[in-house]
Amino acid sequence: MTIPSPPTPAQPASADTPPKSAALQALGWLHTARFLTTAPQLHFLPELDVPEIAFVGRSNAGKSTCINTLTQQKQLAFASKRPGRTQHINLFALGKQGVMDAVLTDLPGYGYAAVPKQDKIRWQQVMANYLVTRKNLQAIVLMCDPRHGMTELDEILLDVIRPRVEEGLKFLVVLTKADKLTRSEGAKVLSITKLQAGGGEVRLFSATKRTGLEAVATLLWDWAHPASLASLAVEPTAR
Ligand code: GDP
Repeated sequence: MTIPSPPTPAQPASADTPPKSAALQALGWLHTARFLTTAPQLHFLPELDVPEIAFVGRSNAGKSTCINTLTQQKQLAFASKRPGRTQHINLFALGKQGVMDAVLTDLPGYGYAAVPKQDKIRWQQVMANYLVTRKNLQAIVLMCDPRHGMTELDEILLDVIRPRVEEGLKFLVVLTKADKLTRSEGAKVLSITKLQAGGGEVRLFSATKRTGLEAVATLLWDWAHPASLASLAVEPTAR
C-alpha cells in the first residue's frame, strides 16, 4: 500500500509571496488610509498609542507613489507635496469602520538639491527628533531607488535609527522602481542592500508592475498587529 503524500500548495507561502488571504487582508486594511493631521514638528503631533509606521527616503525615491500604491489611492501621499506641507510630518489613519488601529507617517523626502541649506538642516533635525523619540513608532520604511543604491544621507539615517532598531524597532528597505532593473540587477541590488540594512528587511517594489506589493503590505500588517501574530502562535487549548 502506498501512503499518499500531502498535497503541495501550487505556490508555497514565503516572505515574497505571502498567502493570498493574508495579502488581501493587508491590502484591504491599507486601503482604509485617510488623512489624519499634519505638523511642522514632532511636538505639534498628537500623542497616539496605536502603532505608527514611518515612510522616509530621498526625494524622488518613489515614496509618494509607493504609499499611493499600497493604499490603492491615487492622491493620498501627494497631499504631502502640497505647498506648505512639503516640510511637514503627515499622518494617515488606518483601520476599518473608522476605528484607528495604526498610523502611517509620511516624512517628506530629504536631499532635494534646490532646498536652501538652512532648510535642509532644520528638516534633518525635525526628522531625526521624530525618528529617535516618537514613542509609538513601530516600524520605519526606507524608500530607496536601486539605481542609486543607498546614498550617504540614507546611511546617516540608518545610523540615527540603529539604537532603536537594536531595541526592536522594525525596519524595511523598499527598493522602488524595480521594473527598471533586469532580473539579475534586481537580485544583485537585493543582496547588497540586505548586507547594508543590518538585519532589517529588504523588498523589491514596483508601482507600475505591482512587484512586491503583497509582500510589503503583509509585512506592514504583521508589524502593526503583533498581537494577532502572537495569537496565531498560541496553540488552541483543548476544551
Ligand atoms: P517621492 O519624491 O519619493 O515621493 O517620489 P515620487 O513618488 O514622486 O516618484 C518620483 C518619480 O519616480 C516619479 O516620476 C514617479 O512616476 C516615478 N516612479 C515612482 N515609482 C515608480 C515605479 O515603481 N516604477 C517607475 N518606472 N517609476 C516610478
